[in-house]
Amino acid sequence: MKNRVSIYDTRRVQRQKDKYYALHQADSCAFCDYTTNSDQIIKLTDHFYVIRNKFPYDWFDLQGVKTHYLLIPKRHVVSFNELNNAERAEYMDIIGDYEAKGFTVFTRASNNHVRSVAHLHTHLIKTDGKRRGTNIVLILGKLGIRIVK
Ligand SMILES: [Zn+2]
Repeated sequence: MKNRVSIYDTRRVQRQKDKYYALHQADSCAFCDYTTNSDQIIKLTDHFYVIRNKFPYDWFDLQGVKTHYLLIPKRHVVSFNELNNAERAEYMDIIGDYEAKGFTVFTRASNNHVRSVAHLHTHLIKTDGKRRGTNIVLILGKLGIRIVK
């Protein structure tokens, strides 16, 4: 498994991830390893786990993060297109419930190079509503520096 840098990770979180990924085999899947006994599990349905993220973001949308869960299909799939109809229906029910509770629902595309685990997962993020840090984000890319206010 490869550790990939996310703009939402602080150095503290990045160091935690480095240690975690160093312990896992390159060909293993962290999300296929969950058992029903994991103390990270918040909710268990027919086809999905909702778990407490081991590496919660410190901030999201320039706000502090209060709660960071992951919604993960029990079956190893990489893309939404691989979910069957029963899984799709259950997925919509779960994200609807969490969105109604104030959670932002966020999934990276399967080919997004920042996605650290191939197994499909959706971030459920509740922010504290407080502006965090600077209003300016520097993005260093191939075409130079872009400032987002
Ligand atoms: Zn998996």
